[in-house]
Amino acid sequence: MEQKKSRLLRLTLMGGQARVFLCDTTLMAQQARDIHNASNTCSAALGRMIAAASIMGANLKSDGDRITATINGGGPAGPLCAVAGPDGRVKVTIEHPEVELALKPNGKLDVGGAIGKDGQLTIMRSFGFGEPYVGRVGLVSGEIAEDFAMYYLESEQTPSLCALGTMVAEEIVSAGGILIQAMPGCSEELLDALELRSELFSAMSQLLRDMTLEEIVSGCFRGLEPEILEEIPLQLVCDCSREYIERVLLSMGEEEIRDMIRTQNGCEVSCHFCRRHYAFTGDELSALIDEASAEDDEE
Ligand SMILES: [Zn+2]
Repeated sequence: MEQKKSRLLRLTLMGGQARVFLCDTTLMAQQARDIHNASNTCSAALGRMIAAASIMGANLKSDGDRITATINGGGPAGPLCAVAGPDGRVKVTIEHPEVELALKPNGKLDVGGAIGKDGQLTIMRSFGFGEPYVGRVGLVSGEIAEDFAMYYLESEQTPSLCALGTMVAEEIVSAGGILIQAMPGCSEELLDALELRSELFSAMSQLLRDMTLEEIVSGCFRGLEPEILEEIPLQLVCDCSREYIERVLLSMGEEEIRDMIRTQNGCEVSCHFCRRHYAFTGDELSALIDEASAEDDEE
């Protein structure tokens, strides 16, 4: 099967009474599954998180803005984290991607069981300058979509319908999501119409398997004057670099680095998001300390 390009559509309904973000992130979910060598359940969690973060990122204003979404639910898969920007670049990680659970009685992957619901969804928005804004809500189910819907309701006072889906077989069959938000002044008629159609979106991964985004828009929002305003290409990509890892090492402190030189004559660090390995020899670590202390002297 030809892989569809990952992308997001931003649209309005009824002349702006509601806004909609709809994305197909199938290819990104497959890449995340491969990078993290994830179980089926964790692949579903990663896939949903990628879609949720893509949608939230698309809502940011300027290029340097970033959102970091972290779900810490106390489940066996550990924390799940994604970073996204308005440019459609997303990265994602989960602490224990190998964790697999039995299917739920309804035959679905037990994402909520793997993530847990004893904790919070934390959203950090950073703007390239100044203090980041941090918002938190208690988890509803750890199933991710409901948790994001609660965040939009509690933290932004915006009634929102959020549906996320990942269909996992040998490969990722489909992944993506939708967020529908009623704007202030939204008519009762539109709210009722969306309420009636919300059931359609509970089968998000089937819709994405069978239809293009445009077909979903014209099929699911028939009669509601859908107007596509923008298409944003999405990609799973990590921005880590050797320089970044050097800064992380330095932030651990000189003592810690000297200890790594003494006990293992170097170190190996892997990026949580792309699993790339960065190796440093003892000499390279020594040089790092020297450079850092030279810079300190200049200050
Ligand atoms: Zn990386």
